[in-house]
Amino acid sequence: MTIRKIVEHPNPVLEMKCETVTQFDKPLKTLVKDMFETMYDAEGVGLAAPQIGIPKQIAVVDVGDEKGQIVLINPVVTSSNGSQTGPEGCLSFPGLFGEVERPFDVTVKAQDENGKYFTIKANDFLARALLHEIDHLHGILFTSKVIAYYENEEMER
Ligand SMILES: [Zn+2]
Repeated sequence: MTIRKIVEHPNPVLEMKCETVTQFDKPLKTLVKDMFETMYDAEGVGLAAPQIGIPKQIAVVDVGDEKGQIVLINPVVTSSNGSQTGPEGCLSFPGLFGEVERPFDVTVKAQDENGKYFTIKANDFLARALLHEIDHLHGILFTSKVIAYYENEEMER
């Protein structure tokens, strides 16, 4: 496994609409493993492929709950309900944290690294993490949704 270099803002790859994945081959599995490794190394809870310079619809999430490692390939939000407002950050914006409103509950349909379709329901922080990563795959950065920025000393996450 390899720790990949995280792309930081401003880099145009972060604002690209990512391509759909059609080949579920060995390089894809290696990429997914590298993305988890890179995310853990950076102490993040999610990482999208454009954040390592690859404009493809691949994201990984692990918020440290019982759902464990989640691989999202070609994800689509099929429903969302409610709302939550809370702090958010991004590995591509080191040291920047802001308050972002998101749905409280989401249902996401995606494929795993083998191409198998699955549906995941999530709420609260996991829903926030999934939505943040899915936004990345459409070139949408959390800064476009921030209601108010936090001063660094107010925010430990
Ligand atoms: Zn991010």
